[in-house]
Amino acid sequence: MLNQPLQLIPEYRDYVWGGSRLRPGLPRTAEAWIVYEGDRIATGAFAGKTLGELAVERGPELLGTRATSKTGTRFPLLVKLLDCAAWLSLQVHPNDEQAVALEGPGNFGKTEAWHILEADTQATLIAGMRPGTSAATLQEAIRNGTLVEHTRSLSVQAGDTIFMPAGTIHALGPGLLVYEVQQTSDWTYRVYDWGRPETPTRRLHIEKSLAVSRPEAAASAQALPALGDGHLARLCSCPYFVLEALFAEKQAIQLNPAGESFHAITVLDGRAMLHTDGGQVTLERFETAVIPAACGSYQFEPVGACRALRTGVA
Ligand SMILES: [Zn+2]
Repeated sequence: MLNQPLQLIPEYRDYVWGGSRLRPGLPRTAEAWIVYEGDRIATGAFAGKTLGELAVERGPELLGTRATSKTGTRFPLLVKLLDCAAWLSLQVHPNDEQAVALEGPGNFGKTEAWHILEADTQATLIAGMRPGTSAATLQEAIRNGTLVEHTRSLSVQAGDTIFMPAGTIHALGPGLLVYEVQQTSDWTYRVYDWGRPETPTRRLHIEKSLAVSRPEAAASAQALPALGDGHLARLCSCPYFVLEALFAEKQAIQLNPAGESFHAITVLDGRAMLHTDGGQVTLERFETAVIPAACGSYQFEPVGACRALRTGVA
């Protein structure tokens, strides 16, 4: 019976734009992959196994019926924390149909959402094109490297959630610490990299960017609603994932995946215990556990004031 919380060991990645907030005291870290098919389970009966391996073995018991009906036994979501000390490349992702057409059968597109954890006062990001930008202008600007002047900048602050459909040109800016949830997909087309030199691992993908960028694709942003003790609020929902904010100080929150989707819980501030029929884990800041879809009712119990995020398949 798969009814215990599965705490995950994150994988870390470094890129040119990374900062030092994810692993203070250690060298630069750009990304922590906190829910990822390659992440290993930290403790319990499945310790050492990857999330992807357990997904293949247990299918709907871990993933839930919503996920397996769409993406089979592949773990369907990828969640990262990103520490942006410099601009990330301007990029765009394909949708599911384009991923198959451009990359072959079995590939998925990438729709994503960002929840801003920390933002410097001047922090901005790029989310789509200025209203009225024509397809011809977009294509020309991609080809001649002048895309930035046609994009829409967004000032953001901690607590904001930005939903980014496939086909939207986007970039995260310096001074942002971000929780990012997305479809499990490797397909990022880099449109412009701020004049940084192209390297074998950091190339531009002009033709594919031209094929998938949509001038009218627009991100939507939402501020964090006020949350009372023991409450949760939906931040965003799309056919691929749902994202919720949880706040608790003295009141525990009762949740139930009901066989439909796993829950992935990440603590943002404070500490929480997750109690299921099969076990319990304690999560600290930026630690994550996956609750299997077949788990049944479970409890999110705060240890002092605690903020967390929950994602799963919508
Ligand atoms: Zn992206």
